[in-house]
Amino acid sequence: MPPDSKAKSAITPEPRPEQGTATRIIHNRRHRDSFGSPYSPVYNTTTYRFPDTASLEDVIEGRAPGNLYTRWGSNPSICELEQGLACLEHCEQALAFASGMAAISACLFAHGRNGIVCVGDLYGGTQELLARHLQPLGIPVTFLLHNESGLLADALTRPGMLVYCESPANPTLGILDIRELAQSAHAGGALLAVDNTFASPINQRPITLGADLSIHSASKFLGGHSDITAGAVMASEERIRPVAEWRKNLGQILAPETAALLSRSLRTLPVRIKQHNENAMAVARAMADHPAIKRVLYPGLPGFPGHGLAAKQMDGFGGVLTIEIEGGREQAAKVADNLEIFLLATSLGGVESLVSQPCATSHHGISREERERHGISDGMLRLSVGLEDARDLVADLQQALGRL
Ligand SMILES: *Cc1c(COP(=O)(O)O)cnc(C)c1O
Repeated sequence: MPPDSKAKSAITPEPRPEQGTATRIIHNRRHRDSFGSPYSPVYNTTTYRFPDTASLEDVIEGRAPGNLYTRWGSNPSICELEQGLACLEHCEQALAFASGMAAISACLFAHGRNGIVCVGDLYGGTQELLARHLQPLGIPVTFLLHNESGLLADALTRPGMLVYCESPANPTLGILDIRELAQSAHAGGALLAVDNTFASPINQRPITLGADLSIHSASKFLGGHSDITAGAVMASEERIRPVAEWRKNLGQILAPETAALLSRSLRTLPVRIKQHNENAMAVARAMADHPAIKRVLYPGLPGFPGHGLAAKQMDGFGGVLTIEIEGGREQAAKVADNLEIFLLATSLGGVESLVSQPCATSHHGISREERERHGISDGMLRLSVGLEDARDLVADLQQALGRL
């Protein structure tokens, strides 16, 4: 096929800032190919050819733009993805990673070496990384409970520390005041990093609330189809630079093919999240007055302790909720086993609905006393509400509860 010689330009116009997120993310592309494909080709390459040594030296020494080696992050498919991620989070820059844990560890190494203060409940992998690996390396780590954010100022004992949190948190959906935490962190000479995985950038943009770094497991809502393992960090150019250094030298880059697949997922993120929000709300409401259910934890329910705060700092309440079954561990397991549409699986954020019992999965390695200290009971089931018809999901839960 002959190349389209009338192609307007090799680089398409950038999406404009006044356009909405859905428009901008769908039209986020850096290259127009000669065949007229609406989207960029996938650059499956580790290296790049130069016409001569002088041009290679120009790129290495920063005198000219150009790609050198994919592990360093210089790859058109990866750069295009990162441009999309930054656009979604309304911030200057983004970095893509091979997993959420890769993104988290690069941030902690880059910004947490003077000490890390964690506020509230953390993802199990993050907890393990901090307690089993970073503390033994000599990095001071303090863990504050969700309701102990008032102790933050005292915990910031030296300049240049990192405050780290998740909101909404797993699996209690606890909401932290990001604006307030950012102010306290900055007053104590620290930066604030927020794991924004549960909310997604459509529902919450921590950097616009004052946080310095926003981190995602892109294996969840960003990927959205339970078929991609990836991660992301969003921040200003200044805060991103040291994270990029760690990514390069720890070798945490994702494959260009995965980057292209994730870019494709991002084009439907706004519409997917809208439906996740709607479906989760419908399920939460239907479960709220079911006799076999003790409590429903969902930021969208007016009776939820963090509801007011969530309404203030979020644009939507998300696709994850936790229900507490009367009778405890065995009864909850029975409900999980009785479900037909909800798949019994860890993870979240995919088009398909998932159910998991925190005490048996994500919080299995933690003692019962410790779980209770964090408000996690054995009767809890975490639901990742997918994009099936909401009435079918409600009916599935009702039949599973009805067979107790
Ligand atoms: C899944 C998850 C992670 C880890 O992400 P991976 O892509 O599995 O490495 C981190 N934080 C939260 C809140 C998560 O849900």
